[in-house]
This record gives sequence, structure tokens and C-alpha cells, in this order.
Amino acid sequence: MSYVKSTILTNPYPSIWEMLGFKVESMKKKILVVEDNMDSRELLVDALEFADYAVIEAVNGEEGERKAREECPDLILLDISLPIKAGWDVARDLRIHDQTKQIPIIALTAHAREDDKNRALEAGCTSYIPKPVKPKDVLKEISRLLSLNA
Ligand code: MN
Repeated sequence: MSYVKSTILTNPYPSIWEMLGFKVESMKKKILVVEDNMDSRELLVDALEFADYAVIEAVNGEEGERKAREECPDLILLDISLPIKAGWDVARDLRIHDQTKQIPIIALTAHAREDDKNRALEAGCTSYIPKPVKPKDVLKEISRLLSLNA
């Protein structure tokens, strides 16, 4: 992935937006990835950066909740099984506060059971993708939710 990324995305020429004075970085949609497993997190971050999103990372529920408040991302990918604070609790607390209650949250969980899916949705998650996640499915769901929110 990193080879592909560096050969395709390293563009030495400024885009029309940059020439017009826009900061390209600030136009990107910002995605917060809350995932404690390093391999899963890197897979998601690589896919998101490749798809031209700005990515913020958190490795536990507490950090995820804090970064959601500080950074106001456009969307959150939230692992459910997290150290310090579980994903359900993070989602529920984000829904309480005004500055984070509208942010779409996609729950990622290894629990494929129907009641776990319902529990994620009841906690305030917008949708649900069972693990192991395919980056392609995640990107598809992100663009679906961002277009609903546009
Ligand atoms: Mn986990």
C-alpha cells in the first residue's frame, strides 16, 4: 500500500485549487479512527489516506472521545472492543454533547451477533460493519454517510 501510495499520490504539480490559494488539506473530510489493534488501525488509515481523507487516530476509548471533541471530525470509525472505555460508552457519551452529537459513527466490531449490532445502534452509532472489515466496504459506507450529511 505504501509503495502504491507514494507512486500515485506524490504529485509535484500544484492543483488548480492550490493555485487559487485554497488550502487543500483543509478541504479534506476528516475521519477519526478509534481502534486499539495496530494492524487493523493501519489498514484503515492507509485506505482512508489513499482515498484522500484527513485521518486522526486514537488507540483507546478515552482518547477517541477526547479527540472527537477537540477535532470535530466529519465521521468516526469506532471499534467497539476498546481499552479504558468501550465503544458503546464512547458513542453514548458523544451523543450527549452538542458539539459531537451529529457526527456519523460507524461501529466496527468482531461481535457478529444481531444483539451486538442493535446495542451499537442503541448507543448512538449510525451504522455498523462487522469485522474483519474490508477497506472497500468501509470507504463505501463512509461516502454514503457523508453524502447523507452533506
Ligand atoms: Mn479492539
